[in-house]
Amino acid sequence: MRLSFRRLSSVMGIPEQLAQVQEKVHAAAASRASLLKLEPLVPRLVAVSKTKPVEDLKAAYDAGHRHFGENYVQELIEKSPLMPADVQWHFIGHLQSNKVGMLVKGCPGLACLETIDSEKLARALDKAWRSAYPERPLGVMVQVNSSGEETKNGVEPAEVANLCKVIATECEGLRLVGLMTIGAPDYSGCRTEDFETLKKCREEAAACCGLELESLELSMGMSADYENAIREGSTSVRVGSSIFGARHYPAKS
Ligand SMILES: *Cc1c(COP(=O)(O)O)cnc(C)c1O
Repeated sequence: MRLSFRRLSSVMGIPEQLAQVQEKVHAAAASRASLLKLEPLVPRLVAVSKTKPVEDLKAAYDAGHRHFGENYVQELIEKSPLMPADVQWHFIGHLQSNKVGMLVKGCPGLACLETIDSEKLARALDKAWRSAYPERPLGVMVQVNSSGEETKNGVEPAEVANLCKVIATECEGLRLVGLMTIGAPDYSGCRTEDFETLKKCREEAAACCGLELESLELSMGMSADYENAIREGSTSVRVGSSIFGARHYPAKS
């Protein structure tokens, strides 16, 4: 048994790993739906391809995948012209205001920027996006520091509704699509406090902006905890290593 499992996992390529994650996404969504007696809503799977070569992204693309997530501006603008134009790019890294112009010009296929963490960034992005692509607002999410760890980016839960309101009412180039969180590392994948916090922030934001709750997405769940996040109501999961394998970061020189 053990031997055959090892052989199997060593020959699994990206399309197989992607299919396996998709299957687990569907199963978790079905389990939530049957528990709550709801229509199953299958969350979006964003394949997080940071540090991975374009060939790896193409393997997932050829298997039918279209949503990809990247963390670094430079890496995204190098990769995006090498991929087909119908790729839906999600930017999920920390964005400094001084890199906004570079990102907007370098990635016209940007579908969603999930990491708005200040009013300053929202306004800078709004301005840059409106002048570059006035016909299409950019989907954005507010990143919430739900775990309260000092090292994490994102706004404090108490500030979320206000920032959402600024985006929804004053940033014509942006479309508020939801909230995103990373959550505290938990290797059992069983921690739910951060997911609860994000859901509570969504309630406050929806009330403050006069929006339907369901019109705001919840981007939560990564390789270690995406099934659990889906059972908690995630509508968009960001999965990297379970699809593309472990990441190897080059040593900083
Ligand atoms: C790297 C990253 C992911 C994917 O992490 P895995 O554990 O490899 O699935 C998801 N979200 C963010 C914000 C990331 O930086």
